[in-house]
This record gives sequence, structure tokens and C-alpha cells, in this order.
Amino acid sequence: MISFSSQTQTNIEFAADLLRQSKHAVILTGAGLSTPSGIPDFRSTGTGLWARDEPLEVASLSTFRTKAETFFEWFRPLANQIFYALPNPAHIAIAEMERLGYLKSIITQNIDALHQKAGSKFVIEMHGTMQTLTCSQCYHQVQAEPYLMPFVTIGEIPHCPDCSQILKPDVILFGEQLPQTAWFKAQKEARQCDLMVVAGSSLEVLPVAGLPMQALDRGAHLIIINNAPTYLNLRADVALFEDVSTILPAIMEKILNG
Ligand SMILES: [Zn+2]
Repeated sequence: MISFSSQTQTNIEFAADLLRQSKHAVILTGAGLSTPSGIPDFRSTGTGLWARDEPLEVASLSTFRTKAETFFEWFRPLANQIFYALPNPAHIAIAEMERLGYLKSIITQNIDALHQKAGSKFVIEMHGTMQTLTCSQCYHQVQAEPYLMPFVTIGEIPHCPDCSQILKPDVILFGEQLPQTAWFKAQKEARQCDLMVVAGSSLEVLPVAGLPMQALDRGAHLIIINNAPTYLNLRADVALFEDVSTILPAIMEKILNG
């Protein structure tokens, strides 16, 4: 049993109360949710992946189009970590909250599908997914799984089964638009929720980082659980500087057992 400071304990109780009282709560998750599952934050500076290469350069649509080998070389360690990653207690607590009706949707900046692996149903993926690949020429879409194993183990670049062109992972690269359907759904959720929980996101990547502001402007409550401050901490009802994988299960436990 983890023991928290009395301040943290009070915040956990307050967060549990807000979730219990809400009619339409949504959660926005970021890279911090998957770091306990061993997946580095590939969009932030200071992580191993970013340190090796200039990410804006390598993880971009133009590199994919012009130097696919360079792109896939950069992408391979990340794909490897995602391929073998398992949901952690934060993902499991979120899935449980959704199953019991305390959360209506999960808006995520992550591409690892760990929410779905934990059992979450209504997941809005803002930065795409590793689960599918799309042909850059004929737009044929395939499940990624059969291609991932040869890619992560021997570096075999995935090719379209129809036209043999290179398949692009359906993740949003720098220089690419966010998927429109996901963006519309997320905005709808932000506008109609009465509580937004931000978990494991420093709210630095626009436009997703603006969603909690939309919720606040319509009178929603805000809970922020992140190990670093965000630009909205002062406006949050509850702000917890803690590890999501201990706090979210503690909140879930509090919801159930009071
Ligand atoms: Zn094709």
C-alpha cells in the first residue's frame, strides 16, 4: 500500500468526489501515461530518442517521403518499445473508470494503443496510431501487427501488399495535419464535458493542449495529474504533481470505497 502525504490524500479524495459528481467526465492523456510502460516521450526534448536525432527533422512527413530509410531507422526503437509494451496501472484505472461510467471518453496524444489494450472503448487518438499502416501510393490500409515483428526484429521496411510502395505508420508526423475526425470528436467532448481530467500531459503540444481551456471556458471542472506543472495548474480544481500510475488507481479506489 502506497502512503501519500496528507495534502496528496486530500487531493485524491477531492478528485474522486469530482468524478463521482460529474455527469460527463473526459480524460486527456499524454506521453506521461505511457512512460511507466517503458515508452519514451517521443515528442519531447531530453529523451533518448530526441537526443540522438533532430526529431522535427527525422519524424517529419518530408523525411518519410524523401528519405524513408532514415525515417524507419529512427522509428524502429520506438516501434520496438511500443510493440512489447503493456498497459500500466494508470491505463487499467482509466479503463475501469470508463467501464463503471465515471469517464465518457479518453482523448489521447499517445500512439501506442495501450488504452485499448487495457480495455478502454471510446478512445480518441489525436496523434494517430501504431495499429495500422497506410500505403503512401494507393492508400490501402493494413493492420500493423504482421509487419511490426519483421520491422522491429530485422528492420524490414513494410511494403504495400497491393502495389509494393512503402507503408506509412498511421501516426501523425511533424508537418502533418491532425486527423480531422478525431479533432472534431475531441472538441465536442471538450465542449460538452463538465469535468476534464488531464493525466500525464504537460499540455505543451497544440492544438490538443488547448482542449482543457475550451472545457474551462464552458464551466467544466479540471483535474491535472502530471509530474510537472502545466500552464493551467492555477486554474485547476485539483493539481497533483505525482506519478499517474499510482494516483489514478488511488482515485479509482477512493471512488469505489469512499
Ligand atoms: Zn499500395
